[in-house]
Amino acid sequence: MIHLTLTIEPTYQVNIHCPLCELSFSSTKVRSSHIRVTTRDADFCTHFVDETINPHLYYVSVCHYCGYASSRHFSTTFHEKAVQIIYQSISTQWKGKNYSGVRTTTEAIETYKLAIYCGIIKKEKQYALAGLYMRLAWLYRKGQDEQNEHRFLSLALQAYQSSYTNCDFEHSTMSEPLILYMIGELHLRLENIPDAIRTFSKVVSHPSKKMEPMIVEKARDQWQFVRQQQKKQ
Ligand SMILES: [Zn+2]
Repeated sequence: MIHLTLTIEPTYQVNIHCPLCELSFSSTKVRSSHIRVTTRDADFCTHFVDETINPHLYYVSVCHYCGYASSRHFSTTFHEKAVQIIYQSISTQWKGKNYSGVRTTTEAIETYKLAIYCGIIKKEKQYALAGLYMRLAWLYRKGQDEQNEHRFLSLALQAYQSSYTNCDFEHSTMSEPLILYMIGELHLRLENIPDAIRTFSKVVSHPSKKMEPMIVEKARDQWQFVRQQQKKQ
């Protein structure tokens, strides 16, 4: 009798249509059934049993043909100048680097930097850029590169503040209490303590707080924690 053991790989391929060059390419995703979470930091950085099976390594899609990089929160339209700039600065120098297979952290960092560049040129919404800065900071956190982690947390903070001011997160999966919570948490991590306290208190007393009970509870915990720390000092 022959016994067959089928091993399901932790990653799979999806086909993506490039909105810039109009060609299709494959990109890797992680099967949710294989993701094993150990802990989650207060800014939602998730730690995994096996850090090579980390969906954040594959958050950015990069076209093999033209080098255009994006996240799922990017729009598929380009203003004319953006097409010219991305073609000139990326596509004409693209040497066919292929990010479709299993990615190392170093390769994932390259994909984030490409997507951030494309997103800035395309004038993507600030909450979409903030999502890239956050995830990139988390990769640096895992590599214990505190300087680069703080550099990108600081950029995420600026982007969330701009998103909050311009309300560009409307019609996205982000809510106002969540954006404010992220601003408070980033202030805390960057040691802007009075700003952290002020922002967490805005979450706790937000008119939509009933819509986000988990976020309000997290903000209350962080708010109390920071105030206690401040009293001790
Ligand atoms: Zn392309």
